[in-house]
Amino acid sequence: MRELHGIGVGRSVASGPVLRMPDPLEEPTTDQRTTEAADEKDAVTRALSAVADDLNRRAELAGGPAKDVLGAQALMAQDPGLVDDVAARIDGGGTGERAVFEAFAAFQATLTEMGGYMAERAADLADVAQRIIAELRGVPAPGIPTSNTPFVLVAHDLAPADTALLDLDKVVALVTRDGGPTSHTAILARAKAITAVVGVADADQLAEGTMVMVDAASGIVTISPTGEELAAAETRTAELQAIAAAPITDGALADGEKIGLLANLGAPKEAAGAVELGAEGVGLFRTEFMFLGSTEAPSVESQQASYTEVLSAFPGKKVVVRCLDAGADKPLAFLNDAEEENPALGLRGLRALRANEAILRDQLRALAGAQEATTAELWVMAPMVSDVEETEYFVTIAKELGIRVAGVMAEIPSLALMAEQVAAASDFVSIGTNDLTQYTMAADRVLGSVAEYQNPWHPAVLRLIKMIGSAGASTSKPVGVCGEAAADPLLAVVLVGLGATSLSMTPAALAGVRAELAKYTRVDAQKIAAAALQAPTAAAAESAAAAVADELTNHPSPTHNTKEK
Ligand code: PEP
Ligand code: MG
Repeated sequence: MRELHGIGVGRSVASGPVLRMPDPLEEPTTDQRTTEAADEKDAVTRALSAVADDLNRRAELAGGPAKDVLGAQALMAQDPGLVDDVAARIDGGGTGERAVFEAFAAFQATLTEMGGYMAERAADLADVAQRIIAELRGVPAPGIPTSNTPFVLVAHDLAPADTALLDLDKVVALVTRDGGPTSHTAILARAKAITAVVGVADADQLAEGTMVMVDAASGIVTISPTGEELAAAETRTAELQAIAAAPITDGALADGEKIGLLANLGAPKEAAGAVELGAEGVGLFRTEFMFLGSTEAPSVESQQASYTEVLSAFPGKKVVVRCLDAGADKPLAFLNDAEEENPALGLRGLRALRANEAILRDQLRALAGAQEATTAELWVMAPMVSDVEETEYFVTIAKELGIRVAGVMAEIPSLALMAEQVAAASDFVSIGTNDLTQYTMAADRVLGSVAEYQNPWHPAVLRLIKMIGSAGASTSKPVGVCGEAAADPLLAVVLVGLGATSLSMTPAALAGVRAELAKYTRVDAQKIAAAALQAPTAAAAESAAAAVADELTNHPSPTHNTKEK
């Protein structure tokens, strides 16, 4: 086998020898302890605080989004419920190691059962347990191998504690066996711009020391790459470096037509970094991210303070705020705590807000207050809207409470199919390609086993986007895209060709999209989009778009993925 396939994160490419992550620690035995319970408990208490201290230290060193993830892990290490459970298991005759192992496993099972966001946190818990057991054994915690020379790190998966502290001078790329497009590893790799391919089922076959080339654009890991392949990779790297270093200008096509390039944010503190990378405003502020751990609805005052902070970072600019999107991978206890067999198809998004209208009204009041207190141009939208009746419901309440611009997200195919009526009833539409892909392809976006269906290049998804784009044009309403698709430079051109008037993405992706848009006129973008629409599969659509794009610019771009998977 010369090529291994997975899901690429970003468009970069890197090569080096493989260094493997050490295997996890052996499971503690179930033998009864021969020591005093009090001694075992003391040892566990010391180990818990040593691990919490270490994680807090790493959190401080890491900063950025990793800081919160590591800080949360440090809290897990000292969770009172877990500490009590460990003590009870020691009293029951188990060793300290075994008690930690079982107590953490039990808690992990509970989180996994809860599904969605909570299930993703379960992996963090396993990592904390491993660190505590290593501390009890007096062996080094399982972690990143060290080397004096650059290497490609291959692992089953990376714990956030490891990803956060990667020495980017040494780790040139990451390959993981597990994980999907929404795993921690993928999110942190994207934020840190590390070349990564996740979900490589055959990653265990990569032997220590093997030379590999990791291509995030195609999601392919090539064993023993040829000189020619490496030279092509170098050309791509040089092109990507030039793009990242290019002066920041407003997003525009080659014919000068402006395409707003906006940022996706999940917390007010992310605003400054987005401005630095040239965000012309905010295209999606995911308000629910601020309240994932809350059991009670936030007050109008506290919400207004947060929204004012975000809006103040963008004076005179557009800021699109999304009302709370609860459900499935983002459960909010105060909006929907029902047990649902298929939560992605359940009472989520606007449906949950409508069932708790007082919470929706409070949020809109807080937003209206922030709108009056700042000079930003506030647009507010509802998540997971199904049809024109729901559109009218939301827009009416938003206007009643003083919101000047109110719109809806297009994430459900039914909304795309009703796009003309929806656009007429709304001030704007913003396409959430992550969910639109999930629902069009009937593939749960958090399930690794169906990750390959989560591809917004699929012509079925593109055709729905075209319906929304056309409806926007015929009703003169703006149509934004704020899902991950907008962060893929060539797909961004396709989206514009299908009618998107602005694109919103993780700020690290802005430079790549800005540079790609500048290569094509509107007519070019429409031709590229037309080629993708006619293709039979996602892979064929991407290749067809790349072929037309290369023809229009008269040379193949090293950042286009022309390899069909
Ligand atoms: C989307 O679904 O594309 C989107 C932008 O919303 P989220 O990823 O937060 O569900
Ligand atoms: Mg969504």
